[in-house]
Amino acid sequence: MRPGVAPRTIDAMTVHDIPVLVVGAGPAGLAAATELARHDVPFLLVERRTTLSSHPRATVLSLRSMELVRAWGLEADIRARSVDVDWTMLESETLADAASGTAIAVGYPNAEQSRMVSPTAPACVAQDDVEPLLLERLRAAPHARVELGTELTGIFAGPAGAVPTCATCARARCARCTPATLWRPTAHEARSAARSASR
Ligand SMILES: Cc1cc2nc3c(=O)[nH]c(=O)nc-3n(C[C@H](O)[C@H](O)[C@H](O)COP(=O)(O)OP(=O)(O)OC[C@H]3O[C@@H](n4cnc5c(N)ncnc54)[C@H](O)[C@@H]3O)c2cc1C
Repeated sequence: MRPGVAPRTIDAMTVHDIPVLVVGAGPAGLAAATELARHDVPFLLVERRTTLSSHPRATVLSLRSMELVRAWGLEADIRARSVDVDWTMLESETLADAASGTAIAVGYPNAEQSRMVSPTAPACVAQDDVEPLLLERLRAAPHARVELGTELTGIFAGPAGAVPTCATCARARCARCTPATLWRPTAHEARSAARSASR
């Protein structure tokens, strides 16, 4: 846990029947969890931060991402948070020269091109606008359990297979108290507990 953050306790009796653990409430974890919710698959989503990041970071939802968003019934909400842009980048020596910069296509189809292949189109929307929307949706999902301020710290390989151990779980390393299946959305994190424990 991060210094100053009080550990939370996951009640052992309520988690051992949850088939999927989602680690991390970034775009990958939130999208995975939203897809699980869409198919009524129960899951536990743990996020070590107590709040979502307020940094904008990624600013585009690609055409395929928007197709997923549409399937989740969130297209109108995302559009309401997005800005209308030309899908081009400007190359220039300095930011002050941007107006006379060279326009470069950034690889996203425009609205007209999108219409030929898809019912939706890419959206220019900041990550810190998308994540709260997905989290709100997950909190309202019937089979979902979302625990912020909860960090996965290891995985215990027991007779029932690999099960995660959570620093905040009252019975860490007890196979009965943890989900049996690990979903690992933050696999790119070199120091991720989930990644190192599953090597
Ligand atoms: C400054 C900055 C600018 C960026 N700009 C752009 C951009 O312009 N365009 C673009 O496409 N992308 C951009 N990115 C990249 C984009 O933000 C990432 O690709 C995206 O956030 C990755 O999503 P993710 O869900 O895989 O991981 P993350 O967003 O990193 O989410 C992982 C989550 O898992 C949590 N977590 C990790 N380990 C544990 C654990 N053991 N237990 C519980 N929780 C855990 C973390 O706290 C985190 O919230 C930027 C990133 C940064 C930092």
